[in-house]
Amino acid sequence: MNISTEKTQETQQKTPTAKSIWIVIQIAVFAVGVFILAMLLLQPKLGLILLWDTLIPIAPLLLIIAPGVWRNICPLATFSMLPHQFNISQRKPLSVEWQAYFFMIAVLLLFLIVPLRHTVLDKYGVVTGIILLVVAIISFCLALIFDWKATWCSGLCPVYPVELLYGARPVLTVPNMQCRTCTNCVVPCRDSKKGCTPLEAVRHKNSRWAALVFIGCFPGFVFGWFSVSLSPSISFRMAVFESYLWSYAAATVTFIIFSILYKLFSNQSNLLVRLYATIAISIYYWFKLPDILGLSGSSSHALLNVSNVVPDWSIWLLRLTFITLFSYLLLARSGTKAWTTPPRPAKNP
Ligand code: SF4
Ligand code: SF4
Repeated sequence: MNISTEKTQETQQKTPTAKSIWIVIQIAVFAVGVFILAMLLLQPKLGLILLWDTLIPIAPLLLIIAPGVWRNICPLATFSMLPHQFNISQRKPLSVEWQAYFFMIAVLLLFLIVPLRHTVLDKYGVVTGIILLVVAIISFCLALIFDWKATWCSGLCPVYPVELLYGARPVLTVPNMQCRTCTNCVVPCRDSKKGCTPLEAVRHKNSRWAALVFIGCFPGFVFGWFSVSLSPSISFRMAVFESYLWSYAAATVTFIIFSILYKLFSNQSNLLVRLYATIAISIYYWFKLPDILGLSGSSSHALLNVSNVVPDWSIWLLRLTFITLFSYLLLARSGTKAWTTPPRPAKNP
């Protein structure tokens, strides 16, 4: 894998060997994605563990360190790019205005879908699998018509806003292995643009307010999501209501604080956004680390069960370490990077 330092970023090339290695990794991760989807549909219990307890817990960390790696190997991204790889896409351009609408829809989808994890998506593997399948088909169909990542990977995908937030200051830049050539399908292209936050990545006035709402709400949304504790006897309708209530209430609080800070420190908006990214991911791992390490809840959800190896108090040390790490990576470190090195420009866009 050809991972560059910042100094060599501009000159980084996709050598034939590096390209082959990336393609092998892409195919392998795609196969893993297909396997998880098949398990969700055929062995839902195993599929849910593979998706929510294995893949998802490590994704935020990868987005902080190397969002370009994730964008290169994400199975859904690979699938949605197939019409381009096989040259069967009509490659129509998407207007800047529609790019803005797509970003707004992505934020809306994120806030609508995630609370459903408590009541549906974490419980019913078949439903989760069918939703993923439908999403994959939609992304594929859109790519049959529109150019490169405009409609899905830098458009409608609900994970994209999170990638923009967490990927504000990546550690690694890698070659772009999804776009063969660049047609400027999105403006600006977050894959190729150095170190911008969601605010700079979406410039249209329609998407800018959506970015502000997303950034302001997200830490509270994450906190609210982890604060949901549903009684086993609660009705399904009340469980859904409670799941949304906690997430949205906490999101409103952090959004109000963000709005005030944004007004007071508008000339420091980049730092403010990275602060919110730091808080959001710190909250995520604060709650998630004990599950990942088997130090709380059922050990069947642990990615690496160390409950018999380390004392309980070590979780506090780990949490502190993670917060320090995120603060360093997102706030203290100087210098900016792109997620990926830009592909060569298309000759006939
Ligand atoms: S935007 Fe969506 S499809 Fe694209 S890499 Fe991210 S998660 Fe995968
Ligand atoms: S590198 Fe070019 S083609 Fe690929 S997503 Fe960015 S703008 Fe679109």
